[in-house]
Amino acid sequence: MFEPLGGWIDGRWITRTPHGTFDVRNPATGERLATLPVMADAETVAAIEAAERAWQIPAPLEARRAWLEGIRDRLLAHRETLARTITLENGKPLREARAEVEYAAGFFGFFATQLHRLEPETWPGPPPVTQWTVLHSPAGVVGLITPWNFPLAMLAKKFAAALAAGCAAVIKPALPTPLSAIALARLAEQSGVPPGRVNLLLGPPEPIGAVLCRHPAVRLISFTGSTAVGRRLLAATAPHVKRLALELGGHAPFLVFEDADLPAALDALIANKFRAGGQTCICTNRVYVHQSIAEPFLNALAHRVAQLRVGNGLDPQTDIGPLIHRAAFDKVAAHVRDALERGAQRLVGHDPPRPEHDWGAFYPPTVLSRVTTDMLVCREETFGPVVPVATFETEEDAIAAANNTPYGLAAYFFTRDPARARRCIARLRFGHIGWNTGSGPRPETPFGGMKQSGFGREGGWHGLLEFCEPQVVARAHG
Ligand code: NAP
Repeated sequence: MFEPLGGWIDGRWITRTPHGTFDVRNPATGERLATLPVMADAETVAAIEAAERAWQIPAPLEARRAWLEGIRDRLLAHRETLARTITLENGKPLREARAEVEYAAGFFGFFATQLHRLEPETWPGPPPVTQWTVLHSPAGVVGLITPWNFPLAMLAKKFAAALAAGCAAVIKPALPTPLSAIALARLAEQSGVPPGRVNLLLGPPEPIGAVLCRHPAVRLISFTGSTAVGRRLLAATAPHVKRLALELGGHAPFLVFEDADLPAALDALIANKFRAGGQTCICTNRVYVHQSIAEPFLNALAHRVAQLRVGNGLDPQTDIGPLIHRAAFDKVAAHVRDALERGAQRLVGHDPPRPEHDWGAFYPPTVLSRVTTDMLVCREETFGPVVPVATFETEEDAIAAANNTPYGLAAYFFTRDPARARRCIARLRFGHIGWNTGSGPRPETPFGGMKQSGFGREGGWHGLLEFCEPQVVARAHG
């Protein structure tokens, strides 16, 4: 595991504060992994002021390229240690944690190739102006708030883009999973990122979040997390007219049409649904399958899911680790109970005992059939290893069911018919769409939500511009 050094403010590791400490525990075993200092108002203000000083020191594009490439190389060089750190604090299987490290490194590598987009653009006249120049200036101090489900990658997406754009970052990782963020700050330090360009705050969301929202030097908050907290940030920043980039909750539909390649659809569904134990924003929350193929589909799905193994992520046999904490367990259990009470049939799974502690929240992979739209699993993000399956008769019904949600992050459909695929793509209101694939985003392409899944994009050159302020200089000869 990476050494849990503490918070990182203005180029110094902070190991003690007057506000006490908190423990980081392995969600599989309860083992204490670290005891870290809690940070509050004074540390947040110190981090913001350090960032404000740091970003105003110009950083040429070549320097930014060196930082980005340095961090990418170090992430890859420390892949095993980082993967172990992710598994220990988050619980996901080690092979998924390795993939997360590579994915995170990809953002630093990608943005290092996109810096040319920040070169000034110039346009001629008309007189009396002789030249127009468009500058992609850094947004300035940016607050980066990240969730626990991809403790390294969700931060890497934001931090790589912020660094490339010339910003200085004040980071607040999720309380259960700060160790990957500490490792990333350490690698940034080793890669020559100057003091104050990256600052890391540890502890509960308040008062850190409140200070980030109201401090005038913070010009942008990039947040990944729940829609409920996203709404709170919107309200808290409104009086200060602050920019937000919000990557919020999802409720992904997975449509299987009668002409689909069923084995391919099943492979994609298993990989997509059970990554991180179903605790990803893009993972399928509800499956709609054409009624003519429902029986063979459900039989094959149940057979595959029954073979998945739940356990400690460090065990190479494990497919599904623990849920992050007991509250997550309670939510999943409540969704399944609600579905069964409303007439769903459980094809795979059982009622596990409620964990005695906040750790050890193992939930068995579950398949539900005869699912209807009134059930919680069809209305809210479950965030667990549950596959609810409903049937449909017509393409029109399938698309309407998929869109029947306030969320718009990811959607998947399986069909061999290109004309149908075009209709689906045109009508599905989701920022990320998979046609015959359940694959997630890539560093090269912009990812983000529609509707209440948020706004702003991460990845792609769009993700870089998210951290810039266009400034226009009109010049006349004087
Ligand atoms: P969360 O409860 O919203 O927390 C996310 C982050 O916000 C954590 O760092 C949390 O800190 C912090 N936070 C909580 N309340 C805050 C406040 N009042 N002010 C400032 N920060 C605050 O979400 P989560 O449970 O960690 O993550 C799961 C959610 O994230 C799901 O809804 C999932 O869909 C979504 N998600 C979306 C994407 C995407 O790209 N759209 C990607 C991944 C996850 P603490 O941990 O210290 O409370």
